[in-house]
Amino acid sequence: MKDRITQLTTSRKQLLQQLPDLCTILPGSLLSRMVRCNKPGCRFCEKGKGKGHGPICILSVNLGNRKVRQIPVPNELRKEVEESLRAFAQTQKVLRQIAQVNLELFKERKHQRP
Ligand SMILES: [Zn+2]
Repeated sequence: MKDRITQLTTSRKQLLQQLPDLCTILPGSLLSRMVRCNKPGCRFCEKGKGKGHGPICILSVNLGNRKVRQIPVPNELRKEVEESLRAFAQTQKVLRQIAQVNLELFKERKHQRP
């Protein structure tokens, strides 16, 4: 039983090291779509004819309550945003795993009560 606890504590330490730099994390996902500039006379945005501009890269963030915020991403920031999204996904994955390990530890501790 003691071994099991040591094992779990060790894997928790390893999981903590897999956390990315939390200062970089960004929520949401990237998508690309056409946009309309709404400038009068723009041939790309002409009603019924134009397809709009793009496709441009959009950061789509779910704000809850069915609200979604869509933020255009300039090309030079795209790579950075992609990395930040990956960091967020990695953080969520590792947090879930740590919570799972803690659950196991909790069960072990309960069994070991005198
Ligand atoms: Zn336009």
